[in-house]
Amino acid sequence: MKKNLAIFTENLSKIYNKKNNKVKALENFSINIPNGCIYGLLGPNGAGKSTFINIIAGLVKKNSGRVNITGIDLDKNPIEIRKKIGVVPQELNIDPFFTPYELLELQAGLYGVKKQDRKTIQILKNMQLIDKKNAYARNLSGGMRRRLLIAKALVHNPDIIFLDEPTAGVDVELRMNLWEYIKSLCKQGKTICLTTHYLEEAEKLCDYITIIDNGKKIIEDKKDNLLNLFTKRIVEFEIECKIVNFPINLKKYLKNQNHNKLTLEYDKKEINLSEIIKILNDYKILFSELKTFDEDLESIFLKITSD
Ligand code: ADP
Ligand code: MG
Repeated sequence: MKKNLAIFTENLSKIYNKKNNKVKALENFSINIPNGCIYGLLGPNGAGKSTFINIIAGLVKKNSGRVNITGIDLDKNPIEIRKKIGVVPQELNIDPFFTPYELLELQAGLYGVKKQDRKTIQILKNMQLIDKKNAYARNLSGGMRRRLLIAKALVHNPDIIFLDEPTAGVDVELRMNLWEYIKSLCKQGKTICLTTHYLEEAEKLCDYITIIDNGKKIIEDKKDNLLNLFTKRIVEFEIECKIVNFPINLKKYLKNQNHNKLTLEYDKKEINLSEIIKILNDYKILFSELKTFDEDLESIFLKITSD
C-alpha cells in the first residue's frame, strides 16, 4: 500500500508550545507525493514548511496524523525512513572545524556506507566543491555551505531528497546552477520535495505544487493546472491615434486608455488575442506595438492567500 507514493501524509498536525502560547504549525496536513517528481511546498514564512520536513526527518515530533515514506510508516520504522531520505536543512549549520571532505566521510560513516561504496570525491565534484575539499568549513561562503549541505544529504544515495529553502540567500547564478542540479537529480529517478517562498522557483522547477499557509493546505495541483486556473491576461497596445468609437465587444475588457496606450484585461477562456486584434482592425484602430502579460504565480498566490 502507498508503495507508488514517495511521500504520503494524512491529517498531520503539530502544535508547538511557545511559552504559554500554542502555535498550530501544521493542521490536518495531507499530501501525496508521487515517485520521481519535483514537488514544491510553497508558502510564506511561518507557513509550516520546515515543520513538515522536520517531522519526516525525525527532528520534530508530530502531535497526530500519519506519515508514510515509500510505504514505510514513520511510527513503526523511523530508522528505515532515515536511510531512504536525505535532508538539506534550512539553516546553514556546519561544524566549522571540519573540511568538506571530512564532513562527507563522517556522514557516510554515520549512515554505514562502506568505504568502497563511498562517492565522496564524486559528490564534491558534482557540487563544485572539489577545490575546497580540504578547506575548513568556517572559511566557506554561504553558497558553498549550501552546496556542502546538499552534498552531505546525498552521501547515502537516498531515494528522496528534501530541500528546505535550497536557494534562500543564494545569488542568481548559483540559484540557476542549483536548479539545474536539482533537475538532474530528478532525472536520475530521485524524488525531490522542496520548500520555497520564491514563486519563480516553484514555477521553474516543480511538477506539482502545494500552497501552504498557516499550517493548512490552500491548494494543490500540477503546476501547469495551477497556472491554467488563472487565465487572466493583460495586453497593452501602443495606439496611433485617439479612439473615438470604442468597440462595444471590448468594453468589458477595458482596463486603461489614454492618448497613446490601450490596456485590456481579458480571460483566455473568453476571447483570444487574434480576435481582439480583429475587432481593433474592424474599428480602424491602428497600433504600432503590443505587449502581453500573463498572470504569474505571484499574483495567483496573493489572490489565494488573501481570501
Ligand atoms: P516555515 O518553514 O514555513 O517558515 P515553520 O515550520 O518554521 O514555517 O514554522 C511554522 C510555525 O511554527 C511558525 O509560526 C513558527 O514560529 C512556529 N515554530 C517553528 N518552530 C518552532 C519551535 N521550535 N518552537 C516554537 N514554535 C515554532
Ligand atoms: Mg522554513
